[in-house]
Amino acid sequence: MRPVRALMLMLCLAAAATVRAADAPPLFTLHEVGHGVWAATSAPTSKAGSNAGFVIGNDAVLVVDSFEDPAAARALLAAIHARTSLPVRYLVNTHYHLDHVAGNGVFRDAGAVILAQHSVRAWERTENLKFFGPGITPAQKAMVQAYVLPTVTYRDGVDIDLGGRTVLVQVMPGHTGGDSVVMVPDARVVFTGDLFWNHSLPNLIDADTAAQIRTNDAFLREHPDATFVPGHGEVAHAADVRAFRDYLVTLRQTITAAQARGEHGDALQRDVLARLKRDCGHWDYFGYFAASNITQTVAELAGHKRRPVPVP
Ligand SMILES: [Zn+2]
Repeated sequence: MRPVRALMLMLCLAAAATVRAADAPPLFTLHEVGHGVWAATSAPTSKAGSNAGFVIGNDAVLVVDSFEDPAAARALLAAIHARTSLPVRYLVNTHYHLDHVAGNGVFRDAGAVILAQHSVRAWERTENLKFFGPGITPAQKAMVQAYVLPTVTYRDGVDIDLGGRTVLVQVMPGHTGGDSVVMVPDARVVFTGDLFWNHSLPNLIDADTAAQIRTNDAFLREHPDATFVPGHGEVAHAADVRAFRDYLVTLRQTITAAQARGEHGDALQRDVLARLKRDCGHWDYFGYFAASNITQTVAELAGHKRRPVPVP
């Protein structure tokens, strides 16, 4: 380890704080990734279900995503209150998936306005039902249909002045068709939502992988020196974004090459899986998402993948 790296690691450890309930795995760990800019990263075993974060200005606080579990959202709100007495005025949902919106009510009740790309408002209580499968229980259905919706929506993005700093929210394509990136230019921090997963296989259930590759190329081109807060995985930098982008490229290319050899069905699935395992077998969620990444990308390349219908 080079000395500069050791120093950076020490600084990171000094700024990190772990939030956990008694005898439970940590809900999330806080990292100050820029002055007043915090990432809340959660491990795959955490009930928080995803990453979140917050940005403190001179006048107000903006939160990025609200976790899968309202208890984690309450812990995040408490962590914000421990650091500032400023009002929590905004919550941006990076997309509709339940692991990023289930805690919305906690921030609404604290006085925050919830913002998202305009389709998110329609999809949050409908498209999230599919994650429970055909055996969804009445209680699960009621839970999804009670999710608190964004009340301010935008087509392309929105700039939000927090006092002394402006946060830029920009719609970018790839993960669901309703994805927002939250940028803090003065701190060179980019919250990517699930457009980028750090050393983790992604959920591609709604993805347009060609668009998602283009979006990750844009991250690298436009923010080469940024600190990236992914939707899942640890705080990251350009090399990690490139590794994720390369995974998506490999996934598509390996499927196309297998099809060119005449493979399909189980044989294609087996050979592509073996190829992906070589580079990424140690990534988070490999066992959970690898098989569905292949079948969903086969469908996408064949042009018959079902994706959420954009709201006009
Ligand atoms: Zn997610």
